[in-house]
Amino acid sequence: MAGPCSVESEKQLLDTAEFVANTGARVLRGGAFKPRSSPYSFQGLGIEGLKLLRKAREATGLAIVTEVMAEADVDLVAEYADIMQVGSRSMENFSLLEAVGRCPRPVLLKRGMTATLEELMQSAQVIAMSGNPDIILCERGIRTFETATRNTLDIAAVPVLKTVSRLPVIVDPSHAAGVRDLVPVLARAAAAVDADGVIVEVHPSPDQAWSDGDQSLTFGEFRSMMKDLQGYLALREEAQERQLLNVGDAA
Ligand code: PEP
Ligand code: MN
Repeated sequence: MAGPCSVESEKQLLDTAEFVANTGARVLRGGAFKPRSSPYSFQGLGIEGLKLLRKAREATGLAIVTEVMAEADVDLVAEYADIMQVGSRSMENFSLLEAVGRCPRPVLLKRGMTATLEELMQSAQVIAMSGNPDIILCERGIRTFETATRNTLDIAAVPVLKTVSRLPVIVDPSHAAGVRDLVPVLARAAAAVDADGVIVEVHPSPDQAWSDGDQSLTFGEFRSMMKDLQGYLALREEAQERQLLNVGDAA
């Protein structure tokens, strides 16, 4: 999954969508409703952003993942999104969790910044018990005493979540790192721990991005990250095949 942090304009979104689609992405990300820590930061284009996401889907065939922040917006966002994103700041908004649980779309549930994995699973259970079993869990870094990165990527979260549930688990290296140089290597780590995917911020000119420019990859950086990941995914497949053979031998 790849795309800009925020939907900013038709050109920004469509150029990015086309590029990431041609480079192997399956899902386009882009926020229309932005949960910003500061009220002075760009808050998203709202419904205009949703309409641009629809346009990008029509142009590229990519599925759309976008955040829903409020219970009142669930039906509106579901008209445009293929996957409903519940952001870190909303992981414990239980009325929102129940509302996406009643919605006929898969949900991408991001781990809260200070949430334990047990709490993340409890939030997933709220969605499931409200009627929606199609949930993707996302590790996006947690808040620790470390300041060298925006958040601390808890890479162990992936195998832990996979032992306690059958849900797909993906990693967001962009919000974990906070700086673009670290994104490809963290994506590589996600591949090595058998994550089911990554969600990455990409922008045509990150320095001009309205949000999260520092952690957004340029098109060129996204292309080389995708190329680099191929090798690691091939290794992973090989290792899994070998493991299956070993299990067969032991039996
Ligand atoms: C996002 O993915 O746009 C986002 C705001 O991420 P998070 O909820 O993980 O901070
Ligand atoms: Mn962002």
